[in-house]
Amino acid sequence: MGQIVLTLSAEKVEEMKQTYQSMLKTAPQGAIFSATTSNITITAYKSGKVLFQGSNPEIEAKKWGTVEEATKEPKKKPTHGFEPYPGLFNQSHIGSDEAGTGDYFGPVTVAAVYVKAEQMNMLQELGVKDSKNLTDSTIQTIAKKLLQLKIPYSLVILHNEKYNQLQKRGWTQGKIKTMLHHQAITKVLQKIAPKEPMGILIDQFSQPSVYQKHLRSEDAKLQKNVHFMTKAESHSIAVAAGSIIARASFVQEMNKLSTKAGVTLPKGASAKVDRVAGKILDRGGIEELEKYSKIHFANTKKAESYL
Ligand code: MN
Repeated sequence: MGQIVLTLSAEKVEEMKQTYQSMLKTAPQGAIFSATTSNITITAYKSGKVLFQGSNPEIEAKKWGTVEEATKEPKKKPTHGFEPYPGLFNQSHIGSDEAGTGDYFGPVTVAAVYVKAEQMNMLQELGVKDSKNLTDSTIQTIAKKLLQLKIPYSLVILHNEKYNQLQKRGWTQGKIKTMLHHQAITKVLQKIAPKEPMGILIDQFSQPSVYQKHLRSEDAKLQKNVHFMTKAESHSIAVAAGSIIARASFVQEMNKLSTKAGVTLPKGASAKVDRVAGKILDRGGIEELEKYSKIHFANTKKAESYL
């Protein structure tokens, strides 16, 4: 993936818009037009800057200006080489995010969602944004509306018993998350096939090299065009949608688990959690507690002090 920026006159930009007429798509804010050819995206801004993004963007860019003289976009220092290119956020892509990994009680949930470019405005209007800034009840409401839209997604839920089994088998939480994201993404790709997304964006929880190491240990391979970025949910509406579906599912599972446990299981990993864990431990021992919790968390030890 590459990127070239040309600064062109208003007349030239207008000429371009005419040329790409049949390939126009919804333009991002501040843009005059945005068009997608078979392998690149062209976005022209009011400033006269025109971005060519995709594979070999210089071929298309050369038709409009001298690439040698082009002002290359100041590149941020790459940290791992899997950063998404800026245009990806406005293109049809898959976003993947998880919930429950920091919570002592309850499962780990991962959701991967495919959002088409033309659906992005609609999702924004639904209120899809970073779930960390939303209350659980708002998340539930938005998730319900999202699912009604029949947007292709895949939700993977790893319940506590299985989680604890894997953990005892030597799987780190990083490996657990890796395999869940991988599974969710694979399923969405199957759902939308033969269509392919312009890219896949994972809300980064580890270095891509570590992610790939975990995949290799299970004979799995990174899919095509996968990108990693921390706080991706605040840049990508697909990741934000994933975070909402994952969180809504986590909350729902927690409600079910609380009913099963006969006590309200608190979210998070605070002292309140330790007290409830102590109660369950007292009642049914470690075997009972394992049904509801991520038993390797330090909370288990702390809960013993409530006995
Ligand atoms: Mn995340």
